[in-house]
Amino acid sequence: MTELSQADWPNLYAGGSVESLVAELDWIITDAIDNAPRSLQKRIGPSEIGIPCDRRIGYKLAGIAPVNERGIAWKPFIGTAVHEQLGAIIDSFNARVPGFNEAGPRFLIEWRVPVGSINGDDIDGSCDLYDRVTGTVLDWKCVGGEQLLKYKANGPGEQYRIQAHAYGRGWQRRGFTVSNVAVYFLPRDREFDRRYPWSEPYDEQVAVKALERVDGIAKLAALGPGAMPMLRTADAWCRFCPNFKPGSTDLTTSCPGDVAATAPSDALSSLIA
Ligand code: SF4
Repeated sequence: MTELSQADWPNLYAGGSVESLVAELDWIITDAIDNAPRSLQKRIGPSEIGIPCDRRIGYKLAGIAPVNERGIAWKPFIGTAVHEQLGAIIDSFNARVPGFNEAGPRFLIEWRVPVGSINGDDIDGSCDLYDRVTGTVLDWKCVGGEQLLKYKANGPGEQYRIQAHAYGRGWQRRGFTVSNVAVYFLPRDREFDRRYPWSEPYDEQVAVKALERVDGIAKLAALGPGAMPMLRTADAWCRFCPNFKPGSTDLTTSCPGDVAATAPSDALSSLIA
């Protein structure tokens, strides 16, 4: 681990007040969150291939820098912390029942799985859990209470559903039997009894079709920023989109939001067809 210098950390030993202590703690926390591996991830992953907005995926694949500075990613940080704790709890359960069978423990935690490829690049991701008894691939989602009620009422939505099947394909390609995919919604700000586990039978075609769609977007994105206006938009939580900029007229770098969602462009349709 790199040692910090005074230049890295201007508030170091700034004074003896509680205010200076708070400033130092805030710096320590926000610096760690800003530099977390997840925040720095540049490659597209299984969690993104089901994003309904083609242009949002296009910006990422074309390597166009984010313009929407949204401050410290506190909620994702909470989700990561919950994931880590759940992984530790289930790993500890695995250790308490040694010899589940000769092939290893019952629950496989955070294995990297190869989902497929997009425009020649391998796509893989770290999957939260695979259960060797039921052949279930499971992803934890830590969400706000109101959002959780929407998932209960309407299901997980295409993005999470596609992510679950993509992980399913990854496990299958590693030689495991996959029967079910599941998204286990956990309340970030409510009691545990509000949780909502969703599942359905595994269908490889869900993942394959999603990869084909993103492959088409990637071919267009490879033409560079000038191709971004050709990509179809959809409401994909625009406020949280890295390239969202209200009123933007330069679509090569930023997007004003899903104000003109239209039919797929001819250019994209011909690439996907
Ligand atoms: S701002 Fe909204 S419409 Fe525009 S690229 Fe992002 S998600 Fe898509």
